[in-house]
Amino acid sequence: MQASAAPHTLLLDMDGTILDLAFDNYFWQELIPRFVARRSGRPLSATREEIESLYAQYRGTLEWYCLDFWTARFAIDLRALKAAASQRIRYLPGARQFLAAAGRERRLILVTNAHGDTLALKAALTGLAGYFEQLVSAHELGLAKEQPDFWPALERRVGLDPRRSVLLDDSVPVLDAAAAYGLGATIAIRRPDSGRPEQDPGAHRSVRDLADRSLPALLG
Ligand SMILES: [Mg+2]
Repeated sequence: MQASAAPHTLLLDMDGTILDLAFDNYFWQELIPRFVARRSGRPLSATREEIESLYAQYRGTLEWYCLDFWTARFAIDLRALKAAASQRIRYLPGARQFLAAAGRERRLILVTNAHGDTLALKAALTGLAGYFEQLVSAHELGLAKEQPDFWPALERRVGLDPRRSVLLDDSVPVLDAAAAYGLGATIAIRRPDSGRPEQDPGAHRSVRDLADRSLPALLG
């Protein structure tokens, strides 16, 4: 019998995996450019282009995910702005049902690049902490999930058996880093934003979202 080979730990990303990335896309790509354009009196389209190229410089780094960094960069109280827009924070289809069922059989750990304050806001609004044994923000470890050193640091932090752990995440660079480290399996989420088309999962096995009927078979 190979029952012990089944994964006993599921590592789940937050934004775009459990929660709808529509909120984050709205916040960073719509709300902030509008706010900055209004303050400067410059056209929205030019402001949006500048902000997108600024984002491109930091994507994949811990700064990209850091509220303090962007609060200083834009001189906007992003915590207050995020709280004001928080009625848009919601679960992706099937996420709660999946978490409730999976948590009866496996250890569930939330692993997010989100800043601890964003994690706290979202956890308070959605009650997501109740589904997980632990919530880990990459900022606690000082490394983004895209960075190879993140994964051994996470292993030490939560006591992980990498071969018997599975990561579900919507970020292909994150999944690539986890696979290179030797996690038992990586599964990509193809539709992290409920308002946008599906995305390319790269070399990873994938599901549309956590409601996808093919997911149980992928988890073994
Ligand atoms: Mg994500």
